[in-house]
Amino acid sequence: MRNKKKKFYTSGLFILGAVFLAVCFIYIIRLVNMQITGVNKYISLNTKTYSRYETVQAVRGEIYDRNGKPLITNEYTNTVQLSYNSLKNYTSTGKNGVIAQLSFVLEDYYGDFTTHFPVTGTYPHVSYNEEALENSVTKNRFKSFLKTNGLDEDISCVDLFEWLIDYYGLKNKNGAYIYEGRTQYDVIAVRYELDTMNFSSDNPFIVKEEAPLKLVTAILERASTGIYIEKEWKRVYNYPGLASHILGRVGKIPADEIEKYLEMGYKYDAIVGIDGAEHAFEELLKGTEGQVKITEDEYGGIISTETVVEPVPGRNVYLTIDIDLQRAAEEQLKANIDKIVNNATDDMTGKLADSGAISAVDPNTGQVYALASYPSFDLTTFTEDYSKLVNDEKRPLFNRALFGNYAPGSTFKLGVSAAALTCGVMTGGSSVECIGVYKYYNDYQPHCWYRYGHGDVDLKKALGVSCNCYYYDVGRRLGIEAMNEYCTTLGLGQYTGIELAESNGVLAGPVYYSEKNLGVWMPGDTLQAAIGQNTNAVTPLQLSMYISTIINSGTRYKATVLYKTETFSGADVQYNQTEILGEAELSDEHTLLIKQGMKLSQEGTSTLRKYKFPIGSKTGTAQTSKQNNNAVFTAFAPYDNPEIVVSCVIENGAAGRNAATSVAGVISYRFGLDENGVKLPEETEAPETEAVVTKKPTATKPPVTEEVNTPVEDTEEITVPDGEHGEDIEPPENEDSPPENEEDDLDSA
Ligand SMILES: [Zn+2]
Repeated sequence: MRNKKKKFYTSGLFILGAVFLAVCFIYIIRLVNMQITGVNKYISLNTKTYSRYETVQAVRGEIYDRNGKPLITNEYTNTVQLSYNSLKNYTSTGKNGVIAQLSFVLEDYYGDFTTHFPVTGTYPHVSYNEEALENSVTKNRFKSFLKTNGLDEDISCVDLFEWLIDYYGLKNKNGAYIYEGRTQYDVIAVRYELDTMNFSSDNPFIVKEEAPLKLVTAILERASTGIYIEKEWKRVYNYPGLASHILGRVGKIPADEIEKYLEMGYKYDAIVGIDGAEHAFEELLKGTEGQVKITEDEYGGIISTETVVEPVPGRNVYLTIDIDLQRAAEEQLKANIDKIVNNATDDMTGKLADSGAISAVDPNTGQVYALASYPSFDLTTFTEDYSKLVNDEKRPLFNRALFGNYAPGSTFKLGVSAAALTCGVMTGGSSVECIGVYKYYNDYQPHCWYRYGHGDVDLKKALGVSCNCYYYDVGRRLGIEAMNEYCTTLGLGQYTGIELAESNGVLAGPVYYSEKNLGVWMPGDTLQAAIGQNTNAVTPLQLSMYISTIINSGTRYKATVLYKTETFSGADVQYNQTEILGEAELSDEHTLLIKQGMKLSQEGTSTLRKYKFPIGSKTGTAQTSKQNNNAVFTAFAPYDNPEIVVSCVIENGAAGRNAATSVAGVISYRFGLDENGVKLPEETEAPETEAVVTKKPTATKPPVTEEVNTPVEDTEEITVPDGEHGEDIEPPENEDSPPENEEDDLDSA
């Protein structure tokens, strides 16, 4: 993708000046700043001059990760071009002279012009380039040129060339050729190109993009006016293919946003952030335009350039992202999806797993460490890949971490637990008997995923084994209004506050039903909502932020990807301040109960059974409309002093435990652990991720196992079968049929 700087020689305000120079002298134009390059110019006596003012776009700020690793930087290139504003005042002979001089330079340093002139050879040995004429643009332009000039379609190439020699004034008074051979050809080819290309102030003739310095120097030394060397910048992606959704693109202002940008003082052809961080931090990155006064002679040759207002480069933006952790997350996600597919026996066990997302945040600040969305794309080849990307049914351009609305499944039970404890509906000691089916209502009796029943279940055990009946009962006793009122304070159904565009998820309930005309909310709907089904939906980031709020005893931080900013040269560093969005009512005692339940849940998750690092976690197996289940998993670590919360959703991933592998992989990377959660030797220490604004612990604490009072029978039941196996996924309308994935659960038990 090429990001063109504001074209320097475009339509501008011409201020007519009548400056007469008294003596003949050589005036050397100096480069006044990075954007503007003039060429040497001989000024003769009594030359009329014209002055105009042009805006100079500021250099765009660069983007780094939290540890200062450069993610997006700028690369400057020189583009040699013929400028309309300059050439328009030239006589035909003058124009020819400019092109001829350029032709000499190019011959020595670069080669040919690229034009649509469909002739090869040099006069008189010229012939039509039949291959070039197969191109419709070349052909149409040629036909139109012949017609406009009253030339016969069947004109021979030699006749045409002779006509062009006359037409472009390439003979002197005596009828002799002014130029011959290659130079003559070049002049004709370029004049033809200018005549047929819609050459204008907005559409200069590009002689050479990314011109080598040698060529630029040669032009500056030898060529005439009318040739301009424009300094351009383009974005360089230093980690191709990584964090693409987060970083985003720059480009021309989208049509539907033109008005907004014009009001903000942008020019029509400005380059702006289109999406991702480039868009979110546009204000910081863009800098302030400068202004330059250009004085030209009557042929458009630059006599002087004077900076009236210096452009101020944009600020560099440091994201909270840790690019190494981001890489680990993206790799873990892909590898795990491949593994699920390979291990699956059919669609219901993960054969269709093909996409997913991971979010990793600092629960103590709301800073986002990583947001992976799979499949993804590569910003360096975005333009080339575009049509393939938009037509890919797996939607690689879709940022699942921020826009994927997924049923939270049993991860929702954590919020319902907090609601139940805070509202006094349950205490840590009160229990519900699970007989495998919830029989409170006569006309709606949903099952627990474990059809034999979990027996007496208290809160910790309910979380550990993910008992549905416990939460049906809690949901019924809370009622949907109280449940939703409380869950809202945890951030469910709410925007996380991240600077990037995001979805706010859905809190299932009568309000949403009436908004979407989904019918009347029934008591059975409340039971399904209480286990994270019905229309409940979270984004992977929202899931991590909500878990953060719970383990923070209710303090809800605003999610952020902005770590700090600085001037382009690295001065005036400003750190982004941690913000609190709200406080959910949640005591430390209740927080501890939920965390203990999450510890039991980890121990009951088959894919984490060997994992030694102390974490708290929760699986979710969420029903999708496709009748395949999404795998949902969330965890915080270390258990005693959480430094990171990681959540993962894998579409069609079958069971929550399948997403656990990805999450464990990210945690292992963060703390320098092997796949079993055991500390690796020193040299693979986790990367520095210390935050500045935080109350975050600065070092990885050694594993501290909290005493979890687990009765023997709980442990047995937690480990056989897997606690994360399918929750009751039946929708209320299917109440008479058994849960569809129940047999699968028991088979694998
Ligand atoms: Zn149960």
